[in-house]
Amino acid sequence: MRTSKLYAPTLRQTPAEAEVPSHQLMLRAGFIRKVAGGVYTYLPLAWRTLRKIEQIIREEMDAKDGQELALPILQPAELWKETGRWEVFGEEMFRLVDRHNREFCLGPTHEEIITDLVRNEVRSYKQLPLLLYQIQNKYRDEIRPRFGLMRGREFIMKDGYSFDKDDAGLDKSYNDMYDAYTRIFNRCGLTFRPVEADGGAIGNATTHEFTVLAETGESDIVYCENCDYAANSEKSELKTIIPPAEEELPLEKVYTPHTKTIEAVAEYLNTPIEKNIKAVIFQNEKDQVICAFVRGDHEVNDVKLQNVTGAITLKMAEESAIRAIGGVPGFMSPIGLSKDAIVVVDPTVMEMHNAVCGANEEDHHYKNANPKRDFGDVIVADIRLIQAGDPCPHCGQPVKMTHGIEVGQVFKLGTKYSKALGATFLDENGKEKPLIMGCYGIGVSRTMAAAIEQFHDEHGIIWPAAIAPFEVVIVPISAKDAAQMEVAEKLYAQMKQAGIDVLLDDRKERAGVKFKDADLIGYPVRITVSPKLLDAQQVEIKVRKNGETINVNIDECSAKVK
Ligand code: ATP
Ligand code: MG
Ligand code: MG
Ligand code: MG
Repeated sequence: MRTSKLYAPTLRQTPAEAEVPSHQLMLRAGFIRKVAGGVYTYLPLAWRTLRKIEQIIREEMDAKDGQELALPILQPAELWKETGRWEVFGEEMFRLVDRHNREFCLGPTHEEIITDLVRNEVRSYKQLPLLLYQIQNKYRDEIRPRFGLMRGREFIMKDGYSFDKDDAGLDKSYNDMYDAYTRIFNRCGLTFRPVEADGGAIGNATTHEFTVLAETGESDIVYCENCDYAANSEKSELKTIIPPAEEELPLEKVYTPHTKTIEAVAEYLNTPIEKNIKAVIFQNEKDQVICAFVRGDHEVNDVKLQNVTGAITLKMAEESAIRAIGGVPGFMSPIGLSKDAIVVVDPTVMEMHNAVCGANEEDHHYKNANPKRDFGDVIVADIRLIQAGDPCPHCGQPVKMTHGIEVGQVFKLGTKYSKALGATFLDENGKEKPLIMGCYGIGVSRTMAAAIEQFHDEHGIIWPAAIAPFEVVIVPISAKDAAQMEVAEKLYAQMKQAGIDVLLDDRKERAGVKFKDADLIGYPVRITVSPKLLDAQQVEIKVRKNGETINVNIDECSAKVK
């Protein structure tokens, strides 16, 4: 490719709307253009990099016997209703209606579609294990699309799904994918960390996120330098018992009534609720915590709260309770939103609490709690997220925190979707069983952005060679000089011949402009053809990442670059 033909309009100024380096640099270097919030056009440079990332993914997925297919983006509501996710997905789902009034969505993910496929086609254990994947656009109406490609509303994802006959099979599939992901992100040249992640709606499911370490990452990663513990802080709750206050009621008086989702509470409160909110705390007029709805399974002092999302009614020292979940003590507005909790301080909370969890007034004087209800075990728990300096859950040493960008996630789904959709097979004994599933996503477009977040300087992008749009750019100081162009053309031909992904900057621009563009776009290697060196039959090789230059004989240049 020649730069004179390349469609890569660069910008001198950083567009004001771009907050993070990857967004700024992709706009400036002519990689992307915005079409709507969270919706971008990928220009040729971006497309080349995306194709390279995809190719690495394909090779590693195929190496694990993955088979690529293409599922539809346009998906009928019926399948999502079968699993209950038509409601659960909420406003993040792009929904539409066809001319016959049938409901559809634009696929935010494909568990329903793939499970529907195999339930109709897979009958026997002999057809297992099966690993299917695709690479295509996903659609999510994110509340805050931002940071360019990092959080788009249309973005490219590789999503893969494994089907096994038993847990041992799932373990193998999961480990295979974990291994493939490690290879993929290594090959992309990224510095990353697999971290334990929150099983979310599937309770205690095993799952890891692959996070690229970068300042601008939206995930808080907690890790231990003493052992190999690393987790998304969302997952890493510090599960300690809050010491009972003097007047604390005996522990057995605290109970765990019915399952209610935080979403149900939010609906009741008519308050939007974010995924990372850990708890809804109800307080009474005296600021005492009377009830908390906690997301996820909680294990406290070896007591398991099995409700995927349950209500823990508790009485604890209110200050520590509010601080524990990251709230601000003394916060008096009706509903306070913090990163981890909604704190409600309102005289009507009793009423809300009653309405939401079906308790009656009596229950708040705990001795009279309705004996018919299963109150379970007594829990007073500190559910705050782990912080730097807290003891490592594995070895007890103080943990550290860093920021990460979630570029991929592997997830043991188990039978959640196969049961909901009736995807079964006959085992060796002719017994019908639900397929055991795993799912495995990689944000392809986010990975491109993450690479830039990790590798850039004040001059521009510094691409890892494996995913650079071009590996080498040849820059003749003056394209008007026939002698320089002759050498440049010769090197260009040689390198192409040698399989190097090379660009020839044949523009009749000043050298300074071409150098600036080369640094901005971030080609790993620049070869400069200058009249000074030509006299000695040499050219200069400059390495983008460390700025090192060496002069080499023209004849040896291609071999040296390779
Ligand atoms: P996040 O926590 O950032 O919202 P997610 O956990 O919802 O991501 P998954 O459902 O695990 O995302 O999807 C698989 C991968 O798709 C993610 O690991 C991420 O790399 C990518 N991804 C998810 N949402 C977006 C988005 N809005 N824009 C770009 N990439 C995304
Ligand atoms: Mg998300
Ligand atoms: Mg996530
Ligand atoms: Mg995820």
